[in-house]
Amino acid sequence: MNPAQDEWTEFGAYFCTNPACELHVRSGDPGVQGVGNWATCADGHRVGRARYGGRMLCDDCGRRWSAGRLSLENE
Ligand SMILES: [Zn+2]
Repeated sequence: MNPAQDEWTEFGAYFCTNPACELHVRSGDPGVQGVGNWATCADGHRVGRARYGGRMLCDDCGRRWSAGRLSLENE
């Protein structure tokens, strides 16, 4: 098992853990590129993902989170 697969499993296999995000999708859903770190939004732009505050978020949500404009509920 490779580390990338471990990470998908750890984060519930969602590309972005923000439930309100269009990229709150699982590996294998349309737009997600394999089990990699990229996905394509409905409007065609590609985003990566990274960890923000212990959560896996896409670039768009991560930027909003970093700017204090995205509040995430505690799990
Ligand atoms: Zn997102």
